[in-house]
Amino acid sequence: MGGAGAKGVRPATGVSVRVEVGAVLFREGDPSDRAYLLERGEVEVSVERDGRRHVLCRKGPGELFGEMALVDGGRRCATVTAVTACELVPITRERLLARLDQADPVLRLCLALLTNRLRWTIGHVQGPDRLAPALPAEECARAARSLRLEHELGQAFAARELELHYQPVVSLRAGRLVGLEALIRWRHPEKGLVPPAAFLPAAEASGLIRRIDTWAVAEACAALRAFEEARAAGGGKKRAPLFVAVNVSAPGIAAAGFLDHVRATVRAVGLPAGALRLELTETVLMAADPGRVLAGCRELGVGVALDDFGTGYSSLSYLHRFPIDTVKLDRSFVPAEGAGAPAVLRGVLRLLRDLGLPAVAEGIERPEQASLVASLGARYGQGFHFARPMPARAVEALLTDGQGKSRTGRRPPSGFPRPCVPAVLLPREGAAAA
Ligand code: C2E
Ligand code: CA
Ligand code: CA
Repeated sequence: MGGAGAKGVRPATGVSVRVEVGAVLFREGDPSDRAYLLERGEVEVSVERDGRRHVLCRKGPGELFGEMALVDGGRRCATVTAVTACELVPITRERLLARLDQADPVLRLCLALLTNRLRWTIGHVQGPDRLAPALPAEECARAARSLRLEHELGQAFAARELELHYQPVVSLRAGRLVGLEALIRWRHPEKGLVPPAAFLPAAEASGLIRRIDTWAVAEACAALRAFEEARAAGGGKKRAPLFVAVNVSAPGIAAAGFLDHVRATVRAVGLPAGALRLELTETVLMAADPGRVLAGCRELGVGVALDDFGTGYSSLSYLHRFPIDTVKLDRSFVPAEGAGAPAVLRGVLRLLRDLGLPAVAEGIERPEQASLVASLGARYGQGFHFARPMPARAVEALLTDGQGKSRTGRRPPSGFPRPCVPAVLLPREGAAAA
């Protein structure tokens, strides 16, 4: 279809197109399926009426022309000529539609409605059947569901229905609890405990995630203090301080004032350096200014764990370019029952050891997996084998009453999710510090 194929038009670097002065990008009546974003130069938009050319407008850098091609893919109703040498980036209708396919359903619905209205207003509707409903009924229903969930989630957040559960992280060498990862849950009045996958996308779409992330930091820091108090109340040997790890989203980390909030929270709660750890995936780091965020965390004494390592592009350059304290190996690395140690698991753990980066192996569900990752050099482990995520009060109970219960043969405190916290988590007297 139409495009910058005319005389004086040639490809420039990458996707850009370079055009010379006087080049005609497209003529009135040409079929076209693309618009152009002007990066450099100026074009003139004109129409021919009664044998005379009328200039409608000029467009410069940052402006778009030919955009109706994106709406209808039909014939152009004006001619566009370069009045200086120009550089442009084409946007095809096909690409736009592919992008819209992945877009938020509410955004899609609104765009489709506006496009229909535009076509109607400027007389682009050819025949009564051309103005089809904006979106198929099932897509409209999806948009409505999204909106309802976002609304309900906002109310749930205000009503304090969101809560953090905590999953122990253990030292594989010492067999002892070293910290906890905070994992969000929605205690829904009718549906019960809703997992994060069911509502975090809606929180991201509505922007609520930024408030959730700052709330989670404050909530987890306060909980850690209560855990330490419970541990002290439980008596026993003095241990190295625990840490709490909080997951932060891309919008959360990129939000203005996030690090200030972290600083204020850590100070207000009075946590020692390293007691708070932020868990960031590579995608999240890329959404922020990684250098600034990581330097800010270091200055505050807040640790950074690179989460889900091995699932994304796993750019190894992150590991030595940025000050990361820990790497969390995604559970897909841990071999299934009966399988040997895959070369990639060995390789990654050796690399992390060489870089001096401690690894937390996630998704440990069986004792053999714990032994395997420990033998390959993982320092820490996390997974259902050790404990499932549990409410804060269950952690407190573990830390006060749970201590020594295994020695007396009594069962750990009630209220633990099954499988219960195994003896491996119960502090062993005289065990080496993690
Ligand atoms: P993640 O950070 O990778 O968290 C680990 C997930 O693995 C958790 O799922 C945990 O319950 C699950 N898990 C732990 N051990 C095992 C195991 O042995 N086997 C299996 N099959 N799964 C295990 P969960 O709680 O559903 O969280 C899912 C994701 O939601 C998290 O993945 C994290 O990306 C996100 N998330 C959770 N809480 C928060 C939060 O407070 N804020 C933000 N921004 N994201 C959160
Ligand atoms: Ca995590
Ligand atoms: Ca993870």
